[in-house]
Amino acid sequence: MTRTFEVDCCIVGGGPAGMMAGLLFARAGCKTLVLEKHSDFLRDFRGDTVHPSTLEIMQELGLLEEFLKRPHQPLSHLAGIFGGERVEMIDFSLIDATCKFVALMPQWHFLDFISGAAKSLPDFSVEMNAHVTSLIEENGRVVGVHSETADGPMEVRAKLVIGADGRGSTVRDCAGFKVKDIGAPIDVLWFRVPRDLDEDEELLLNAGAGNFVVTIDRGDYYQCAFVIPKGGADAVKKQPLDAFRKAVISTVPFLRGKMDALTDFDDVKLLTVTIDRLERWSRPGLLMIGDSAHAMSPVGGVGINLAIQDAVAAANLLAGPLADGTLKDDDLEKVRKRRLMPVRVTQFMQGQAQNHILKPALAKGNVKPRPPLPLRLMSKLTWLKRRASAFVGLGLRQEHVCSPERHKPTSPKN
Ligand SMILES: Cc1cc2nc3c(=O)[nH]c(=O)nc-3n(C[C@H](O)[C@H](O)[C@H](O)COP(=O)(O)OP(=O)(O)OC[C@H]3O[C@@H](n4cnc5c(N)ncnc54)[C@H](O)[C@@H]3O)c2cc1C
Repeated sequence: MTRTFEVDCCIVGGGPAGMMAGLLFARAGCKTLVLEKHSDFLRDFRGDTVHPSTLEIMQELGLLEEFLKRPHQPLSHLAGIFGGERVEMIDFSLIDATCKFVALMPQWHFLDFISGAAKSLPDFSVEMNAHVTSLIEENGRVVGVHSETADGPMEVRAKLVIGADGRGSTVRDCAGFKVKDIGAPIDVLWFRVPRDLDEDEELLLNAGAGNFVVTIDRGDYYQCAFVIPKGGADAVKKQPLDAFRKAVISTVPFLRGKMDALTDFDDVKLLTVTIDRLERWSRPGLLMIGDSAHAMSPVGGVGINLAIQDAVAAANLLAGPLADGTLKDDDLEKVRKRRLMPVRVTQFMQGQAQNHILKPALAKGNVKPRPPLPLRLMSKLTWLKRRASAFVGLGLRQEHVCSPERHKPTSPKN
């Protein structure tokens, strides 16, 4: 039997964009239901970065203190080693923010915390194991979604549907939105190796002869990204594992001895890098946000940040009118207008870094790379480093929570 629900706002996807939007719309007094296809928030690595701008949002919601009790590592700067030469590129202590660091926190904790806080609100509910399969449309308007759940089919009718179901979005396919593919010349292989707890805290970009490896300190392990040319994963995985270990060690000598912990290519996961965005983000009754509106490259680790900023902007512009029954179809376009500039500029910068730093570094063969000029300048000129740090840490057109607070969320027990 089909279960049916009627809400003000139905959000498809319980990632960073969907959970934050869920919390904010319910906080404003909109009856909100989030549908998430997984049974929990535990997944493969999808980025663990909670940026200063997101920490600012947590502060504005009164949740920061409890949030920072969750296990995390504060990351205050970012450096690169190019052919043995070190450049300091980002220093968050230079930016104007409550928290002058990125909190490296497993996404499970982040999403679990937000959903816990959202559940303290009377108008919020979340259905896990709910896979949205299609939209319900009437007279050219989106009025709800169909979903498969563990308890059978489910139909949700809503005044507003928000698609926040990530870069493989079902909602955007069903809605027939056109996707502009911006292109990415790289893919990334992710893996972990053990780390001694007394090593220095750092996030490093390591460029060696023909290789580029990012090492992220995650306490007792390093999360590593091995950058490869687009479509190159099969070639890497065809070689013996030892050749892969050696390629990593030649670029990151301090991983010598640790790479033996990698015993199988099954532990090396492929991230197909995509940069794209929708030409339209809305139709009557439907709005797209986060990666489903604009898939981000992992360069700069800013995808989560942008997804959260979209959610805040959407709530600022729409939650009040939705709650008091005055929302108009034209209002939905305001979210794209507000967020398009930061998305465009960030995607442009990601493209520049991919094409002018990563791609040449991979093509260099046996030539020892030098730090690219922009990075050398960033390391020497404090004003430039401050601007770059603010761009990464706060993004452009930083959003602040201005949506109504009909109910106050409380932090979940840690
Ligand atoms: C390997 C990897 C590493 C990354 N590293 C970083 C990083 O270090 N820092 C950073 O900021 N960003 C990083 N990113 C990008 C970041 O993960 C995304 O930009 C961000 O998660 C976007 O958030 P979102 O909520 O829009 O989408 P997602 O996080 O993709 O969430 C979408 C949610 O929708 C659910 N869903 C999908 N389809 C359906 C459906 N039909 N029905 C119901 N639910 C559905 C999914 O299960 C998921 O929970 C990385 C991405 C990957 C893949």
